[in-house]
Amino acid sequence: MESVVQEKGNLSIHTENIFPIIKKFLYSDHEIFLRELVSNAVDATQKLKQLASYGEFGGELGELKVSVKLDETAKTITVSDRGIGMTADEIKKYINQIAFSGAEEFVEKYKDKGGDKGIIGHFGLGFYSAYMVAEKVEIVTRSYQEGAEPVRWICDGSTEFEITTAEKAERGSDIILHIAPDSEEFLSASRLRGILEKYGKFLPVEIEFEDKIINNPNPIWTKNPADLKDEDYLAFYKELHPFSEDPLFWIHLNVDYPFNLTGVLYFPKLKNDFQVQREKIQLYSRQVFITDEVKDIVPDFLQLLHGVIDSPDIPLNVSRSYLQADGNVKKINGYITRKVADKLSEIFRNDREGFEKKFDDIGLFVKYGIISEDKFYDKAKDFCLLKNTEGKYFTFEEYREATQATQTDKDGNLVWLYTTDTQKQDGFVQSARKRSYDILVLDSVIDSHFIGTLEQKLEKTTVKRVDADTVDKLIEKDVKLESVLSKDDEEKVKKLFEAVVAGAGTSVVVEPMPADELPVVITFPEFMRRMTDMQATSGQRSMFGNMPLMYTVSVNANHPLTSKLASLDDDAQKALAKQIYDLALLSQGMLNGQDLTQFIQRTVEVL
Ligand code: ADP
Ligand code: MG
Repeated sequence: MESVVQEKGNLSIHTENIFPIIKKFLYSDHEIFLRELVSNAVDATQKLKQLASYGEFGGELGELKVSVKLDETAKTITVSDRGIGMTADEIKKYINQIAFSGAEEFVEKYKDKGGDKGIIGHFGLGFYSAYMVAEKVEIVTRSYQEGAEPVRWICDGSTEFEITTAEKAERGSDIILHIAPDSEEFLSASRLRGILEKYGKFLPVEIEFEDKIINNPNPIWTKNPADLKDEDYLAFYKELHPFSEDPLFWIHLNVDYPFNLTGVLYFPKLKNDFQVQREKIQLYSRQVFITDEVKDIVPDFLQLLHGVIDSPDIPLNVSRSYLQADGNVKKINGYITRKVADKLSEIFRNDREGFEKKFDDIGLFVKYGIISEDKFYDKAKDFCLLKNTEGKYFTFEEYREATQATQTDKDGNLVWLYTTDTQKQDGFVQSARKRSYDILVLDSVIDSHFIGTLEQKLEKTTVKRVDADTVDKLIEKDVKLESVLSKDDEEKVKKLFEAVVAGAGTSVVVEPMPADELPVVITFPEFMRRMTDMQATSGQRSMFGNMPLMYTVSVNANHPLTSKLASLDDDAQKALAKQIYDLALLSQGMLNGQDLTQFIQRTVEVL
């Protein structure tokens, strides 16, 4: 059935109902009232400066600072500026109309002249955040316009206000908050200083509190990179992180299309410490501190960096405390990733030696990026370095070339070998070196994930830990060693060792190896070991936590001791098998406690 329109109209909102909502729910954090009022004072000052530059204000600018004053006895906080001020009509327009932004209006009017630069206000709601802490707010203001009369506006947070004439000699505004009894915590100088330093540390107009300027109005990121020296970047880093070691290098971000973004990101020394503190990148919008929770804007791996990002184009909600989903955020994300990759690539190309020296510090970061962002991988694959046991560095491509001839298996797969511990896995490293294989050192917490990504990305390449198998099986070649044992004897040896080893999760194989290799080698199947490693780094233990260590006991069929076993009686066989098995355990650092004590005793007896 067709529906019939009976009535159309506008929904009405009663200010009495909406006001408490603004006061109570719009802002989660009460302290931001000060950020909003100081931002308004800064805006008023910036507007006046702009008008002067357009020739619309011909008077003396004088000293333009914003001051914040606390009067504990009168229980007031006053924010004063020497900006454009307001006439009574402007108060009615900008203050009495909730959610009408004078800042927006100004930006719109002057945007062709660059008037959109440096104005903070946006939503037309900031002023009312004063009522989160004040029971009464007064504005005493005098417009910059010639012959303007000073006016006073006063409102107790109900929907009624009063405008009267006032005394004010100077141009500008005083916003006087009469602090409510439940907000007296803000009547503390140290609390106010804390808030001002948090949000206003880099505001573009000087902010004075208790006779001191609390901010640096020209922070480094607003300057032209060409005018800055290394010392300037280092000094700014110290300003942000007074107790940190000097950073390795930095990137000055500077775009204005398709979005506006400036900032400086520093690479800290990371070493192997993956648990480095995050939240070291601060987000600003037009030099007003917004948050140090940048996880939505900056890709996860880049959060290991320190520094500042400033963008008026980051879509913030009204309270500015969190981001709104927006296409810009993705673009910003992509831009920062690209810039960081380009910087690393530039250092790599211009100063390979220096880059190698820094790689132990930034490797973790680069690998994290490679694992988590395809776009980053596309660039980083050309500068990410692999280090071998001799301390030599290779790019992926260089390493492929270096290993191709010796380490390609019979199926045409390139096998890269690595050690997580050159000391513990020394025996395996030596065996592999004897075959002229190269061994990488991949010993950081992130490497098990990194290796997985490498295998996914690189064609026909597998990566194995040196002790994943006996040396001839790590990289299988067409040429096979002959066994000196008959099939029957091999079977007997296998049974013998199975009786000696007798543990869950272990398996015994008898295979021909060169006679000068060890009689027994213990290896850890790559796949199983990697699963356990990954579980450990991701902090989950559930699935593999209770599983016994899986390993393979490979008996060298061609070792003279193995041949000797056949000539012995049962007990002697067992004793010898046990002794060589214990030796293999010992070389893997797996012989402990009673077993170790007994092994030592037996050995002493033999000697
Ligand atoms: P916004 O700053 O987002 O525009 P606010 O609610 O913070 O919204 O302020 C509303 C308007 O009131 C401002 O845009 C400005 O026109 C005016 N205003 C507020 N504070 C001052 C001030 N200190 N000096 C001059 N005008 C002010
Ligand atoms: Mg504002």
